[in-house]
Amino acid sequence: MKKHIAVLAGDGIGPEITNGAIAVLNKVGEKFGHEFEFEQLLMGVCAIEKTGEPLPQYTIDRCLASDSVLLGAVGGAVGDPRIEKLPGHLRPEAGLLKIRSALGLYSNLRPAKLFPALAGACPLRKDIAEKGIDLVVVRELIGGIYFGKRGRGTEEGGEYAYDTEKYNVSEVTRIAKIAFELARKRRHRVTSIDKANVLESSRLWREVVHTVAKDYPDVELIDMLVDNTAMQLVKNPSQFDVVLTSNIFGDILSDEAAQITGSIGMLASSSLGATKRGLYEPIHGSAPDIAGKDLANPIATILSAAMMLRDSFDLTEEAKAVEEAVNKVLDEGYRTADIMSEGMKQVKGSEMTKLIVERI
Ligand code: NAD
Repeated sequence: MKKHIAVLAGDGIGPEITNGAIAVLNKVGEKFGHEFEFEQLLMGVCAIEKTGEPLPQYTIDRCLASDSVLLGAVGGAVGDPRIEKLPGHLRPEAGLLKIRSALGLYSNLRPAKLFPALAGACPLRKDIAEKGIDLVVVRELIGGIYFGKRGRGTEEGGEYAYDTEKYNVSEVTRIAKIAFELARKRRHRVTSIDKANVLESSRLWREVVHTVAKDYPDVELIDMLVDNTAMQLVKNPSQFDVVLTSNIFGDILSDEAAQITGSIGMLASSSLGATKRGLYEPIHGSAPDIAGKDLANPIATILSAAMMLRDSFDLTEEAKAVEEAVNKVLDEGYRTADIMSEGMKQVKGSEMTKLIVERI
C-alpha cells in the first residue's frame, strides 16, 4: 500500500513529536511492506512567520490532496511577541478550526485508555482501575448547540439569552455510522448518550441511532442518559467500548474520560469526515515550556499515527503492532519525564521513539 501523508508539525514540541510518529510509520512501512510518503506543510506560528497567516491556502490544498493528515500542535507561549497582538482570525488557533472545516471533519474520536503499566497515574480507586479503561468517545463535531441559533433579548424578567440544540436525521446518522463501524473494529458495543427523558433533540437522536443500529446486528447498542454516564465513567469505566455523543455532551465527557487515564502526553485523537482522509493529532498542545529540550513524550502522537493506520487505511494489524510496541516499552519500565515514577527508567523523547520503533 502506498499513502501520501500531509504533516503539519506546527510549533513548540510539534516537530519533535511528529518526527517520532514518522519514524514509527516508516518502521511499519518497512515491516509490513507499505510505502508512506510525508509532505511537511506550514501551519501555526511557523506559518505566520513565513507567510503572514496561520493556515496558508497551499497547506489546505495539499492536505486535500493527501490520503491523511498528521498534526503536531500549534501555538506559542503566553505573551509570545510573534502572536500577542494579532487579531483573532490570524492567530494559530484560527488555523486549527479552519483546517477542520476545510477538510469537512464532523466526527472527533478520542480514545481514553489506561495503560496497565501506568495504573498508578489513574485517579480512580485501585479496584476500579484494575478492571481497565479502554474506550473511545465518538463526538459529533460540527452540529448541535455550539452551532445552533443563539441570541439575546429582553422580556418582562429582564435580559435573556438562549442557545439551541438542534440535530437533523442526516447529522445523527453519519456520526452514528462512524461509531458502529468503529465498534466493529473493537469490542462490538456502542453506548449512545442522550438526555431523552427531557430533550426533544435527544429523542430524535435516540430514534435515529436505533435506526442505524439495525444495519449492525453484530454490535450491541446501549442507551445511557448523560448524567448517568458522567457517574458511570468514574464508577465503572470498564463497561464502555465506543461512546457515541452529541457535540456538547462529547465535549464534557471526553475531558472526563481523558482525565481518568492519567497523563496528557499519552492521549491521541482523530477527526474524520465523509471520506477516509482524517486529521490525527495528540490532545495536548505545543508545550512551549519544554520545546527543544527533547523532553516531550511522543506517545500521544505515535498513538495518533496508529489511529490513522486503523481508521484511514484499514491497517488493523499494523495499528495493533504500534500499540503493542508502546505497551511493551511501558511494561519494560521506560518513561519520559511527564510519566516518570520511582523505580522506572527515565528516557528522552527521542529515545522513547527509538525504543518503540525497535519493538515493532
Ligand atoms: P499544553 O498541552 O501545550 O501543555 C500543558 C502542560 O503539559 C505543559 O506543562 C507541557 O509541558 C505538558 N505537556 C504537553 N504535552 C506534553 C508531552 N507530549 N510530553 C510532556 N509534557 C507535555 O497546553 P498549554 O500550555 O495550555 O498550551 C500551550 C500552547 O499550545 C498554547 O499556545 C495553546 O493555545 C496551544 N494548544 C494547541 C493545541 C493544538 O494544537 N491542538 C491544543 C491545546 C493547546
